[in-house]
Amino acid sequence: MSNHLAADGGKPVCSTILPYGRQSVDEEDIQAVIEVLRSDWLTTGPKVSEFENAFADFVGAKYAVAVSSGTAALHSAVFAVGIGPGDEVIVPPITFAATANAVVFQRGTPIFADVDADTLLLDPCKAEAKITSHTKAIIAVDYAGQPCDYDSLKRITERHNLILIADACHALGATYKGQKVGTLADLNVFSFHPVKHITTGEGGMITTSNPQFAERMRIFRNHGITTDYHQRELQGSWYYEMINLGYNYRITDFQCALGLSQINKLKGWVKRRQEIAKFYHETFSDISGIIPLKINTNVSHAYHLFVVRVIKSELGMDRSKVFNELRKAGISVNVHYIPVHLHPFYQKKFGTYLGLCPHGEKAYEQIISLPIFPAMNNNDVHRVIDSLKIFITK
Ligand SMILES: *Cc1c(COP(=O)(O)O)cnc(C)c1O
Repeated sequence: MSNHLAADGGKPVCSTILPYGRQSVDEEDIQAVIEVLRSDWLTTGPKVSEFENAFADFVGAKYAVAVSSGTAALHSAVFAVGIGPGDEVIVPPITFAATANAVVFQRGTPIFADVDADTLLLDPCKAEAKITSHTKAIIAVDYAGQPCDYDSLKRITERHNLILIADACHALGATYKGQKVGTLADLNVFSFHPVKHITTGEGGMITTSNPQFAERMRIFRNHGITTDYHQRELQGSWYYEMINLGYNYRITDFQCALGLSQINKLKGWVKRRQEIAKFYHETFSDISGIIPLKINTNVSHAYHLFVVRVIKSELGMDRSKVFNELRKAGISVNVHYIPVHLHPFYQKKFGTYLGLCPHGEKAYEQIISLPIFPAMNNNDVHRVIDSLKIFITK
């Protein structure tokens, strides 16, 4: 009998945990990976450039460079533009730590500029106010999947002769004023971690229209060496030169085969994320005290995350209570993010402090990320809403 109550010893009502994000991998993806495992090239082979070309085509970028993670992609971008000791790079506080860490990897100094209170995207005015004679670049983060205000950011970086880097790890498939994410900044960074829009297990990509940046990143991902093994094999040569200090940030061919297979499905997946988001938006318009982040009118949002703010004075309970109740119901909600400047590392090393970015800090007390991923069916979406309604109307 399948419909016993849990109290009768039957299956618990919430036997499965609903994650906040999850990859979709089908038989076609698996076959694509197996094919490469049977081939001659497991790494630095033909699938890498095939994936790079398909990705560049998808976002409409001139060059795409694939690396081993989104973090490696950020580091490669920061290296490509020549960040070094004493250089300042402006970053927002509401992001994954890797955005700022990439600056530190190159001995640069991350300078935190506050986010807009409603979108939690880097506020261009706040960023401009932080520019000094040491500033070299701004890294904008398309938080949750919404593109930043690139017109304003570009005006600022052009006026002050700075490089604009987009941490677009949340925003693959999004557009700003009809223009695709991946073409909006000088360098645009993506991640293929399983919770992101497409996955290669671990993996990352940088897109750019600048051939020098692309070349520097290709060398950087391969120990700073000017030719890779595949190129030397083709040329029948053993000689190589190391011209920079680089890393092993290479991605494997079987990962790229997975990425290639995944990219075919990306459009449909973004559409499904947008459908789920639309339903959430409609539902929350009737619930006071739970407010989705503001969406600008000139964007198509890729919804890596669906973030709501819990307003305690209206809902009668705080974010922690909502978080704990949803977790108890098997809904694996999350908080994105602890403001980066409040991590002990940054406070100790760079003297950052509570009060430095008030909008980001206030948001951090209120935000919660609800499950959103393409494989969620309508029952899953209803389960989130129903679980929420049970305790907020008590
Ligand atoms: C995921 C993510 C990264 C890092 O990507 P990894 O592939 O996990 O290294 C960097 N920045 C943001 C905003 C991310 O969401």
